[in-house]
Amino acid sequence: MADSSTNKRIVILGPPGAGKGTQAVKIAGRCGIAHISTGEMMRAAVKAGSELGLKVKGYLDSGSLVPDEVVVDLIRERISQSDCTNGFLLDGFPRTVEQARSLTALLDKVNQPLTHIIDLIVPEQVLLERIRKRGEGGSGRSDDNADVSAKRLQVYWEQTAPVTQYYKDRGMVSEVSGLGTIEEVHERVSAAVSC
Ligand code: AMP
Repeated sequence: MADSSTNKRIVILGPPGAGKGTQAVKIAGRCGIAHISTGEMMRAAVKAGSELGLKVKGYLDSGSLVPDEVVVDLIRERISQSDCTNGFLLDGFPRTVEQARSLTALLDKVNQPLTHIIDLIVPEQVLLERIRKRGEGGSGRSDDNADVSAKRLQVYWEQTAPVTQYYKDRGMVSEVSGLGTIEEVHERVSAAVSC
């Protein structure tokens, strides 16, 4: 059985366009832990036309946040699955301080607190440029047009940046520069989580 004391339970933070999703997949693979993206889970639900999908579609399309209780329920269920026993990486969650508090409570209950919190740092000008290119590239995401991207950035500064502060107040944040190639950033993230 895996030694749970060496398991990684990681959160990756950073604004839209910071490269969070890309780095999340790579680092979860390298650490051998489950990659959990709430955005991906909800996009899949929308595509499948499930009850959850119908509930969240309007929020995703407009770039607003889905209500906390909906996302917290989703995460509670997801991290209880067997592929998370050796650890997990959360990508896109928590997005509000309320979600962060719920996550702390959830993990404390099972005595498995977070082990690493990575904050990917990218200057705003670079973010806007990356998001613009993503929109042009036809990512297939309904929220990748200019208006919705601007809205997502605003939501990030208003509701999600305080999450970084929540963890900073607890002395848990490793800041990692998100500038450079995907591989360069990956090596920095990897060093920060010791995988
Ligand atoms: P993402 O792929 O992480 O950028 O998420 C895409 C969209 O899904 C967001 O703009 C929100 O509408 C929704 N979403 C994803 N994660 C969360 C979360 N933790 N809390 C609220 N809404 C979320």
